[in-house]
Amino acid sequence: MNPAPFRERLAAWFDANARDLPWRRTRDPYAILVSEMMLQQTQVATVIDYYLRWMERFPTAAALANADVSEVLHAWQGLGYYSRARNLHAAAKLGLAGNAEALERLPGVGSYTAAAVATFAFDESAPVLDANIIRVLARLFDYSAPVDTAAGRAFLRARALELLPAKNAGRHNAALMELGALVCVPRKPRCALCPVRPFCAAREPGKLPLKKPRRAILRVEQNCVYARRGDEILLEQQTGRRWRGLWCLPALPNPAGAPLAELKYPITHHIVTLRVHRRAAPAEIQPGQLWVPKSRAGEFPMPSPHRKALARLLELTDS
Ligand code: SF4
Repeated sequence: MNPAPFRERLAAWFDANARDLPWRRTRDPYAILVSEMMLQQTQVATVIDYYLRWMERFPTAAALANADVSEVLHAWQGLGYYSRARNLHAAAKLGLAGNAEALERLPGVGSYTAAAVATFAFDESAPVLDANIIRVLARLFDYSAPVDTAAGRAFLRARALELLPAKNAGRHNAALMELGALVCVPRKPRCALCPVRPFCAAREPGKLPLKKPRRAILRVEQNCVYARRGDEILLEQQTGRRWRGLWCLPALPNPAGAPLAELKYPITHHIVTLRVHRRAAPAEIQPGQLWVPKSRAGEFPMPSPHRKALARLLELTDS
């Protein structure tokens, strides 16, 4: 493919069709890192509000670095995958360096995020391979092998590099991403509206990109306690990797009897059934546990499934 006319068409389409997303109005690497961390695993429509609230609360890397981890987790509450918030907090303390290689050394910043920040903030000519760009490239070059292998990534990276301009790389990468989000969409690509259709080799675009077979979904159970002392609820601060620093209903190692409430939630390749059992208030509480007035429970950062379970329990017992 001849990259120059491809880039011209793509750029003209982007100028006319780009969405006005708040993180596109800035070149601040901190703000762009915040948006990129939030956009991992979360839809654009959900991220917009979180991003605006976050930037109001922690407008600079220094403001975030000086915040308490509990405040940071609370601001992230509802986005899930809390390691992203902890990593962002740690990265803010270390400071944001000026190229993709240095950014990749920050905690939780992989090659994709580092390239995205470097290209959008510093206009670095770095190939950015997010899910949208991977799909667009796999179709443009009719790549019919799995994209999530070392060979697949190397192929796409090489194609992305061939297409990259020396100048305005950030805008070019944003345009490719936007094409994937608005036109070259996963199930039914809108090829009739596509500005780069003359360059596209895809024979059956709806079937691309291919991926390695998925891991089987595992079903697991999680049992917790709902204990009350008048208007107080017993909560437990987590120390495990996934929810470290967050507050949950305390774990119940040996559940017996019917639960008071039950809900299911997905996490990576698991479906978790959360069962909450009513228990009498213990005479003594364990380290890490706390009696929290129910009116103040909202001030404690909690993972969504536990927050939803608690709301349901309060409705069942207090209404
Ligand atoms: S022509 Fe269709 S498959 Fe090819 S890039 Fe455009 S939308 Fe995607």
